[in-house]
Amino acid sequence: MIPEPVRQSLRGRSFAETRSAILDLIRSSGEITRVDLARRSGLTEATISKVVTDLMASELISASGRAQSTGGKPATFLRLDTSRLGAIGIVLDLPHVVIVLCAIDGSVVDLATIPATRDEEPEVVLKRIAAAIGGLLDVNGTTPDRVIGIGIALSGRRSYRGPNPLDWWENMPIDEHLRALTGIDVLLENDANCAALHEFWSGGIPAGQDFAVVYAADGIGAGIVINGDVYRGRSSHAGEIGHVYVDRNETPCWCGRRGCLEVTGTPQAVARRARDMPELFSDLGVDANGSTRAIYAALAERASVGEPREFELITEAAEYVATAVVGMANTLDLGLVILAGPGFAGAGEIYLEAVRGALETTYIRSVHQVEVRLRSVHPNIAALGAASLVLHRRLTPHHMA
Ligand SMILES: [Zn+2]
Repeated sequence: MIPEPVRQSLRGRSFAETRSAILDLIRSSGEITRVDLARRSGLTEATISKVVTDLMASELISASGRAQSTGGKPATFLRLDTSRLGAIGIVLDLPHVVIVLCAIDGSVVDLATIPATRDEEPEVVLKRIAAAIGGLLDVNGTTPDRVIGIGIALSGRRSYRGPNPLDWWENMPIDEHLRALTGIDVLLENDANCAALHEFWSGGIPAGQDFAVVYAADGIGAGIVINGDVYRGRSSHAGEIGHVYVDRNETPCWCGRRGCLEVTGTPQAVARRARDMPELFSDLGVDANGSTRAIYAALAERASVGEPREFELITEAAEYVATAVVGMANTLDLGLVILAGPGFAGAGEIYLEAVRGALETTYIRSVHQVEVRLRSVHPNIAALGAASLVLHRRLTPHHMA
């Protein structure tokens, strides 16, 4: 059997890299003593002591509680300091914009929701967002200089540095505009990668554990975390599982091929299929012009209580998702797959069961366990992830090296 790879030693790194890696070890541990930091990093206690002093002076960590000691001076636990600094995450989840203020452990301090539609001028909406950020900081007794940055989660797959972040704001550099309005640094990322970074940053996942988050909203995408950072590929389209072949009926897809997950297994695709079944559709009690989300929510609710036609529709979609996940788990040798996002609300258990079942009989399962977790299905998860993006990029930049 091939042994698990040994992660690179921290010895011989620059002080900045060491500081970044130690902060990350404190993050993933929740709380940890100096002695354990030295043991787990392979660094001397003198080096740890120097880094810890620096992190405390920067108000990034604090000491709390006392660890059990086998004699001598009791050791203190170190943890992220959630009292001073924070990050802001935004999701443009029209017709609403959700803005969250998070502490540096990624937990929510406060949030604001403001209305915005596709018909409005982007400048007007951005000014409203900037004003809401100002209000959120005031109410919580904090100031822009204590905000490490603003992250924006964009739906769909597009370059996180690209010029076209949102179709309704074509050629609008959202990051530059919002930076000018707030004086705070702004980062952009797609929603699936944000969801993956939220799981990583707040879920206590260590940098050595590679995993993928399957994020469902109206569509489905995956955020893949390898060696403590999101894997983006050549053009930030890694994790685009929407165009994986899953359907033997060969439903045509707008991408030019047939049988894609995008047109068979996404909430959007399920809602479309329900529209083509008049009897079922009328039982849903949804307006004929209802949104994809409203139709899918009604379907999921009925499927979860065992209504047979609805259950069959969602189960079919869940099996398509499972097929795509199996391919990804085998290709990437994953030990952990997380399902998250509002598209799993209501019928998440059906997806969980389908994905677990499919992985049970696949190649990689003969080598090792593949854990599958169903996590937050709340619509705000992408906004929390956008704040985690800021924390991850700015506080532990060694992952990006
Ligand atoms: Zn396609």
